[in-house]
Amino acid sequence: MSISNLTSRISGFHRMSAEERREAVAAFAGLDGAATAQLARDGNIDPHLAEHMIENVVSSIAIPVGVATNLRIDGEDVLVPMATEESSVVAAVCNSARQCYDRGGFTTSMSGGEMIAQVQLLGVADPESARLRILERRAEIGALCDACDPMLVRLGGGFRDLEVRILPSRGGTMVIVHLIVDTRDAMGANTVNTMAETLAPRLAEWSGGRSLLRILSNLADRRLARARAVWPVEAIGGEAVRDGMLAAYHFAEADPYRAATHNKGIMNGVSAVVLATGNDTRAVEAGAHAYAARAGRYTSLTHWEMTAEGELAGMIELPMPVGLVGGATKIHPTAQACLKILGVKTAERLARIIAAVGLAQNFGAMKALATVGIQQGHMALHAHNVAIAAGAVGEEVGRVAAILVERRQVRQDAATEVLAQLRG
Ligand code: NAD
Repeated sequence: MSISNLTSRISGFHRMSAEERREAVAAFAGLDGAATAQLARDGNIDPHLAEHMIENVVSSIAIPVGVATNLRIDGEDVLVPMATEESSVVAAVCNSARQCYDRGGFTTSMSGGEMIAQVQLLGVADPESARLRILERRAEIGALCDACDPMLVRLGGGFRDLEVRILPSRGGTMVIVHLIVDTRDAMGANTVNTMAETLAPRLAEWSGGRSLLRILSNLADRRLARARAVWPVEAIGGEAVRDGMLAAYHFAEADPYRAATHNKGIMNGVSAVVLATGNDTRAVEAGAHAYAARAGRYTSLTHWEMTAEGELAGMIELPMPVGLVGGATKIHPTAQACLKILGVKTAERLARIIAAVGLAQNFGAMKALATVGIQQGHMALHAHNVAIAAGAVGEEVGRVAAILVERRQVRQDAATEVLAQLRG
């Protein structure tokens, strides 16, 4: 991996105008004029393109794209575009990453790049024998899968392995075939679905049963992205903060009610990068939550512990089926501009960056919860939305928001009252 000298430590980034920030990002990422101009355009999707993407198009909805700073990932600084409608998500990543930047930032890895397609076989009289009959045809099955996508094979991907499971169910015993495919820089849903549909009649014939469902599994547990980082105790505000954060993690680890919200916070960061890069947020969300419950009990996607030196160490591991080609990644111009900001050349690098963002987001949420509470930071930003909803325009927005926060009354009725007072 190339180690660059570019720095993500852009001081005063949050105080710059959007135009200044675009210039800073363009300078960092070496964006051309077209990419910068695209970022400058609000509601930046061509209506004709939208028509090709989905059905019944009437409009498009613009979600703000913020850029997270301070991230150092595997020795390389990176600016990370995040698409989200939720206040304080981007700020939390910036703050969390700053607190581990001098300690080296994030170290990441990936388990592999394989997706799983499932073929459901019903009415198989001898499931155990059928399992072996199918496994005996591994080479033939591999060749049939690869023939579905010669381009993928040329790129070094294609069929990798075969699994056959016998699944007892409410409706009787099923035989489930897993086609395991390396989809390289594509998320791979369409790719593996095509393979499953092509193989299904053969599998039905060999098993003596009939095939029904033929589709990928979103529990992409052969495509796990991992990230870890260490936060020095002095950088996070002392031992009491560290111990509070560990207690917050222990709560999430032990309790599904807490874990759901803990993981939702992680996905605030993860989904924002997935969306900004034109990837499938639902696929990543489904995979993450299924993976969090893999031991039979829903739990935290992150792990936290104290190092021998008393520092706070965090780790995350979750399925990350994202691509640089396929789906909307290639055709949405804003997704393309966001991928250029990231400077990623492989889907693996993108997946690893997203894992680091998820860990940073979790750090931010746990720290806030274990200290001042989530509302202090959240409400300061949210107050702007409340002020706008109450009718504030221009400079009124900041003034109304500041008064709401000071009074600890970030509410619509209070905003209406404050606005009326300001306007005399
Ligand atoms: P795709 O079929 O559009 O593109 C993948 C193809 O691109 C490959 O078959 C390959 O031939 C080609 N390709 C070119 N360069 C490549 C490279 N460097 N690496 C790998 N392939 C390369 O897209 P996809 O990734 O197969 O499917 C993603 C889409 O499927 C998303 O839009 C997703 O929303 C949708 N989808 C998701 C689900 C789900 O359950 N998650 C189900 C169905 C569809």
